[in-house]
Amino acid sequence: RMAHLPFRKTLDQFDFAFQPSVDERRIRDLATLRFVEHQENLVFLGPSGVGKTHLAVALGLEAIKQRYTVYFITAHDLVQTLQMAHMTNTIKQKMKMFIKPDLLIIDEIGYRKMDETAAHFFFQIVSERYERGAILLTSNKTFGAWGDIFGDNVLATAILDRLLHHSSTVNIKGESYRIKEKKKAGFFR
Ligand code: ADP
Ligand code: MG
Repeated sequence: RMAHLPFRKTLDQFDFAFQPSVDERRIRDLATLRFVEHQENLVFLGPSGVGKTHLAVALGLEAIKQRYTVYFITAHDLVQTLQMAHMTNTIKQKMKMFIKPDLLIIDEIGYRKMDETAAHFFFQIVSERYERGAILLTSNKTFGAWGDIFGDNVLATAILDRLLHHSSTVNIKGESYRIKEKKKAGFFR
């Protein structure tokens, strides 16, 4: 799949009326990809089902259209890949995969805690990309809870420090689109 995107969804397929906490003008502005050009970061925060991955994929597709290199990976797969690479002494090559693309999308930070090795390599990716390459992150956890995710408050602070220095955060509050669709189909009656 293109840039490992999990599905193809565009901004035009996003129902902004359903999610009023998402400002369409702001998202359209982000879709100009100035943040990619300027090696800045973007974070989508919010509960499950509110469209974080959809928006991340839509911006990823836009970036591909504009000829940027994009790599999409879930935090879970990223951790597994790094741990495996660490064990098989291929970490250097693997790290390149996450450091080289113009836009690295890391989806679903916070569903799982990271162990020390994973947290260490995650920090390394963020450090290497700092002011060199854009990262788009999605998370269901507020920044205050990131100490828990990385199992280390000092490390989490160092990660957030670099990540947020040149960044913008979109907080999405609202109902899950998945549940809305189930309600429509009568699952909740
Ligand atoms: P999250 O990553 O926040 O858990 P997703 O982006 O995976 O949520 O959204 C769940 C599903 O609902 C996806 O199929 C997505 O395309 C769809 N979806 C979410 N929000 C909207 C929206 N506002 N308009 C259209 N589809 C949406
Ligand atoms: Mg998601």
